[in-house]
Formats: sequence, C-alpha cells, structure tokens
Amino acid sequence: MATKNQNSAAAEAAKKALEAVKAKKEAEKTRTAGGNDTRSAGTKARVQHNITHVEQQSVGKQDLLGIMNKNAKPYRIIAVILWLLGLGFEVLAILCFKKVIPWKFIADNPGWTISWIVCLALDLILVVIGSQLWKKANHLDPASEKNKAKFWIQNNLGVIIAVVAFVPFIIFALTDKKADGKSKAIAAGVAVVLLAVGVLSGIDWNPVSQEQVLEEAGIETGEVYESVYWTKSGTVYHLYEDCGHLNNSPDLLTGTSQAAVENGKTRMCQTCQTRGVKEGLVHLPDNTDTANNDQAKDNETGSETGNENETEPVDLG
Ligand SMILES: [Zn+2]
Repeated sequence: MATKNQNSAAAEAAKKALEAVKAKKEAEKTRTAGGNDTRSAGTKARVQHNITHVEQQSVGKQDLLGIMNKNAKPYRIIAVILWLLGLGFEVLAILCFKKVIPWKFIADNPGWTISWIVCLALDLILVVIGSQLWKKANHLDPASEKNKAKFWIQNNLGVIIAVVAFVPFIIFALTDKKADGKSKAIAAGVAVVLLAVGVLSGIDWNPVSQEQVLEEAGIETGEVYESVYWTKSGTVYHLYEDCGHLNNSPDLLTGTSQAAVENGKTRMCQTCQTRGVKEGLVHLPDNTDTANNDQAKDNETGSETGNENETEPVDLG
C-alpha cells in the first residue's frame, strides 16, 4: 500500500504533510514545556491506549470523494427503501380510512380506524429510521455547497419525505365525502401530529458540507494531519491522543486526517480543534463561524455511541 506509485502532486502533498507533523511536534513541545493545560482530563491522568495504525487508501481528493461516496451508499439505499415502505403504508392508511380495501378481515377484526392508525404509525417509524440513516449518509458523504439547490435538497430530503408521507393522507381524510366531521378531524389531527414528529426527525440541525470536511482535514490545501486519532464507533477524529473525550476508549485508531475521513470520521473533535487553534496547529479559515464549531461539537456529543463522550477525568490512581 505504501509502495504505491506516487505522482508528483502526491509527493508534494506528502512533503506538506510532513511539515504539518513538524509543526505539530513543535506545538506539542511547547505545550509540555508550558504544562499549564487547564484541562485536567488531559494532564492529570495519562491514559494508555492500544493504538492501531490505519493506512490511508486514497491519494488525491477525487479518490477520497469516491471512498466517501462508497461509505455512504449503503445508508442511502436502506434509507430510500425504508422511505418507500413508509409511503406504501401511507397508501394503505388512506385505503383503510376510505374503507376501500376489499379485506373483510380488517373490517371484522382490527377495524378500519385502528388499521389506518397502525398504518400511519408504521409509516412514521419507517420514515424516521430512514431519515436517521440519510443524515448519517450525509455526514459520511456531504453535498458540496457549490450547488446550493442540491445541497439544500440533499440535507432536507428527510423533511420532504415526511411531508410526502403524511400530507396526502391529511388531504384525503379531509376531503373524504363519506366520513363524518368527527372522524375527519381525528384523522387529520393524528396525521398532523405524526407529520410534525416526522419533520422534526428529518431536520439535520447541523448539516455538513463537503467543503467543510475537506478544509478541516487539510485535504483542500494538501496539508493533511499526519497523525490523528479516532475510535471505531466515533464520528469525529481527534488531533490529540490525550484528548479528554478519548479517556474511556482504550482502543484507538490512528492515521492521517485523510485516513480518518476515509473511515467515516468526517469532522474534527471540537475540543481538539479549540486546543489546536490555541497551539497553532489548526488554522481556521477566515470564514469559519461559530455555527460550524457548534456543529462539530454536536457530532461529538450527539452521535457518538461509544464511551468516548465521557469528559470526566480518569483517575488511574
Ligand atoms: Zn478530541
């Protein structure tokens, strides 16, 4: 893998990466010399990690974008399948509400009302799970901000699907000629509540753009970080092995920031980023606003399923 033929651009990138490492080492030296790190988690208890090195697979940006696309694909496919199933249940719900399914079984047993409610509930569950997978895919393989329309649609597809999954039912229920006013109101009311839940779960409060990911990892400039750390279950990568968020994760993976992105860790840990900026290791672009920072933080605390969320200092005695 390492012996792969490198073109001059890659060699140039490697050189730059090496310079970045030097800068990092330099920064680490000053940090140790200073010794006044305010994060008790970082200094008091030095946690021993089992670190496994991960080789970078991609050589250039296009290569990397291909890998990101591949990482996200299974999530996108399953999301679309679940959404389609959800819409199928909406159709069933409409048919049950209008009592047009030729299934005597429903009329005799669960009853029409229960049937459409169950169908709408299944519709909601499928739409919500689909949206979560879609959001996960968008974080693994974000849309480019250059195409504003595509960026908006890709990030709001969960919301659009939620609307499609409930609004037709509401319209059909309200315009049904045979149903009485009370049943119409109940049907519309239930569907509006489910619609609200679906829309809320579809919103990506912290959408990520492809540019942010590439910028943050130094891929845009060819100055990737030589050694960053991440956990198998995490969604972010860390610049510092002694980051407090990693205290409860004995097994770490390490590699370049490009390798981290390849492995689905598309954002930099907010704590590490703040520290990196202080120590001159991270240079935020001028247009980086606080919203972007909040976003990385949310990813860290919101989506991590492992135990690296723990910010409590670990006392090794
Ligand atoms: Zn960190």
